Amino acid sequence: GANGGAVLGCEALIHWRHPARGLVPPAQFIPQAEQSGLIADIGAWTLRAACRQIARWKSEGVPFGSVAVNVSALEFRGRRLLETLDTAMAEHGVQPHELELEITESVLMGDTESAQRIVSRLHELGMPLAVDDFGTGYSSLAYLKHLRPSKLKIDRSFVRDLEEDVEGRVIVRAIVGLAHALGIRIVAEGVETEGQRRFLRGIGCELLQGYLISRPQPAGAAAEFIRASAEATVEVS
Ligand code: CA
Ligand code: CA
Repeated sequence: GANGGAVLGCEALIHWRHPARGLVPPAQFIPQAEQSGLIADIGAWTLRAACRQIARWKSEGVPFGSVAVNVSALEFRGRRLLETLDTAMAEHGVQPHELELEITESVLMGDTESAQRIVSRLHELGMPLAVDDFGTGYSSLAYLKHLRPSKLKIDRSFVRDLEEDVEGRVIVRAIVGLAHALGIRIVAEGVETEGQRRFLRGIGCELLQGYLISRPQPAGAAAEFIRASAEATVEVS
């Protein structure tokens, strides 16, 4: 959280262990996976892996909050996403509030009927939705009414220049105000400096993500970090 407290959630980031190139981050292969259609298989694999990890952390007593999984707009066509979720959650005993689906603004563009149906079903299931990279897509604010997300994640491009850029500060302040008025929690992405943290805390942005908090790390190291943060919070309060 923004007050330097406990970990309230984490984001699952898929990496590709390539025989020659080593560990390849998602930005370097997900766009190609979307173009080729492979994203459907990769997305299903990721959801199953996240559910398996949630089950393991629960059995080990890791206070992880929730695990967010990035879901491509393409997965909002057809029925497979819901089937994969059903199966993986049942198999690993995962509750809806232990997962969170991160989607971008583009989900409700284009073929919206199928997407809208899936969104409704996810709401029925009680599955939290977060809008990822908020402010960079097609910013029709009308979709917030249909999507009813539990979180908006302010894109890192707004956070990066907070300390130098007056307009950036105005925009971020406005997003936080909008989200709070709609009862939506707000996450700032890409937080890297104390100055950014101070400003965000000052305007009531309650959740922070970025290198200042933690770099992406494997599940084992993440679990240690989460436990240490929880203990530190208990000590302070
Ligand atoms: Ca994300
Ligand atoms: Ca993001």
